[in-house]
Amino acid sequence: PAPDPAQVRAALQETFGFSGFRGVQDQVVERVLNGHSTLAVMPTGAGKSLTYQLPAVLLEGTCVVVSPLIALMHDQLRSARANGIRAATLTSADADWRETLDAFRAGQLDLLYIAPERASQPAFRDLLASSRIALFAIDEAHCVSEWGHDFRPDYRLLRPLLDAFPHVPRLALTATADHHTRQDILAQLGIAEDGLIVAGFDRPNIRYAIRPRDSIARQLKGVIDENPGPGIIYAPTRARVEQLAETLAAQTGRRVLPYHAGLAPEVRARNQAAFVASEDMVMVATVAFGMGIDKPDVRFVAHAGIPKSIEGYYQETGRAGRDGDPSVAVMFWGADDFARARMRLAEVDEARQQSERQRLEALARLIETADCRRAVLLRHFGESPPARCGNCDTCLEPVDVIDATTLARKLLSAVYRTGQT
Ligand code: ADP
Ligand code: MG
Repeated sequence: PAPDPAQVRAALQETFGFSGFRGVQDQVVERVLNGHSTLAVMPTGAGKSLTYQLPAVLLEGTCVVVSPLIALMHDQLRSARANGIRAATLTSADADWRETLDAFRAGQLDLLYIAPERASQPAFRDLLASSRIALFAIDEAHCVSEWGHDFRPDYRLLRPLLDAFPHVPRLALTATADHHTRQDILAQLGIAEDGLIVAGFDRPNIRYAIRPRDSIARQLKGVIDENPGPGIIYAPTRARVEQLAETLAAQTGRRVLPYHAGLAPEVRARNQAAFVASEDMVMVATVAFGMGIDKPDVRFVAHAGIPKSIEGYYQETGRAGRDGDPSVAVMFWGADDFARARMRLAEVDEARQQSERQRLEALARLIETADCRRAVLLRHFGESPPARCGNCDTCLEPVDVIDATTLARKLLSAVYRTGQT
């Protein structure tokens, strides 16, 4: 029998120190505790981890969590253990796998984090069969879909494993899934359509603005000067990151550090730690920065060029204002961004081209719109928002935007033309 609501509340308070659920968390947890497979689509920062960690604590047996990145797993491991949850990872980077296996077999683990490729190993399936599994949690579940923005073929290896344990409920979690991708995740992971729970995507405290790029260092300096709190600037290449970090450090008097995958791991770790601890630092970064970083007081996110897709835009801007306080998201775009995106599009294989192009077109529509940015963004995620939010550039300064839109339309027409070939 499922734990009663009083037990659930007690565990929420005692293990996690939270006085209540947020958003759809309680709906997701209730389904899972009653053994129903579920796909929960919840924005970044909405608290997806809790929806499997709490059942993992309450249910008999272990919750097996699939996660795409070792770094993410280790972050999760640290925070779970800090709450006193019995958790372990089983990855190639772990030296203590023997202890992990012993604890797992003895039923002494609440959570076991694995990478998707582990799922195809017969020895792993045998291991699961000889243990008690309470739940399969599939984090970043959009990775299973070719429609998703981050397809990982390894995620396709999961289905046979899941099917080998038909009575164990499945909980798939993602922050970014449009209608197509959601349906595909449900189908790929064998979850019934009525198992879909979608949280609201609106982030009302974020003020959106999108502007044509002219002199980017000057424009970014303006954003930094207007926003004294911590901020992230996304730049498209490592070279741009280095260059902008140097220029902006010299011109703004703020602490500005770079972050990209080409830096030595210890430099990256140091810069990230400095940012997380700071109340006024600016991080100039590639998209390598952000996943799994828990900093609630980021006051601005600026894009020095376009993100890869509208999903990427939502995810990256979503790192601003997780504490609910007013924050801004400013994107500076140029026609050359779209030229580069088109070149990249030509390189991907046929199967992905259509979905990638649609994502790029959705981003182009967001850029060129004279309608409310928030409304366009939320409609992309299947919501029916009010026509005007009053907290984006097109709502606040409609005149300027009409000029920008004329320019945008001209420059972006090339994107649509590619779509027709
Ligand atoms: P997601 O995976 O959806 O991006 P996380 O699971 O990392 O989000 O949670 C984001 C933050 O929200 C974490 O700091 C977490 O401790 C916090 N959080 C989650 N649920 C609650 C809750 N019910 N009350 C307060 N804080 C919560
Ligand atoms: Mg998460």
